[in-house]
Amino acid sequence: MTTWETRKRRKADLSRRIAEGRDDAGYCRIVGCTQRTPAARGTGLSRRACRAHEDHYGRHGSYTHGSFTSKALAPHRQAAEAWLAAHHADPAVMRGVLGVHAQYAAAGQHLPATRLAGLPPFVRCRAAWARLRDAKVPPVDVLAAWLAVAATIASDPGADRHGEFRQVQAAKLLHRMASGTHRRWERSGPGGSLEVTELHKYPASRGRVLRHLGEQLERVAEAVAALFMAEREQAGNQ
Ligand SMILES: [Zn+2]
Repeated sequence: MTTWETRKRRKADLSRRIAEGRDDAGYCRIVGCTQRTPAARGTGLSRRACRAHEDHYGRHGSYTHGSFTSKALAPHRQAAEAWLAAHHADPAVMRGVLGVHAQYAAAGQHLPATRLAGLPPFVRCRAAWARLRDAKVPPVDVLAAWLAVAATIASDPGADRHGEFRQVQAAKLLHRMASGTHRRWERSGPGGSLEVTELHKYPASRGRVLRHLGEQLERVAEAVAALFMAEREQAGNQ
């Protein structure tokens, strides 16, 4: 082998090792991000993305797309609620409503948000259903949340198309629909004045509980969503 060929081969090897090394050496895989992963830094386990991107993923269900605001969701929620009202006697919608009732019935006792920290995600997920039930959120509104998120994603060309993003966004909307735990203490202060202490605690809207809640919502609402989205698409094409 000539020196020239050897050098060329070595150069190619080196380029390949550097290219592979970029993954192995643990850089964040999000395009444009130059941070190293927690695994590479020895500060965590993630080999996929840097800490900031993992954190974003935990909160929003997407590495890059933020959560939808109430304002962005509002027109789609209204459209979903109107559609559900017009289709309330449709067997798929009736089954969906029964599915939400079943989640409510299986959710068990209401746990105050102040006691949820540190409990496993499936327990916190049940508590989220119990909160919706006890806040008397109509099951049809729970279905509307899933439909609204599906429609918002469909009408946003830049939205994350992964199923997990849809699940997390819908679960966040459910979290917003159920109130947190609110407490109020009154006691008499000096000179007979009334001292009021209030505590407002909302469950943290992030992490695995959102995935569980979103998955369960998808299971009860996906057949309804398929009908809604098909009709929505037809109307859009006319
Ligand atoms: Zn990153």
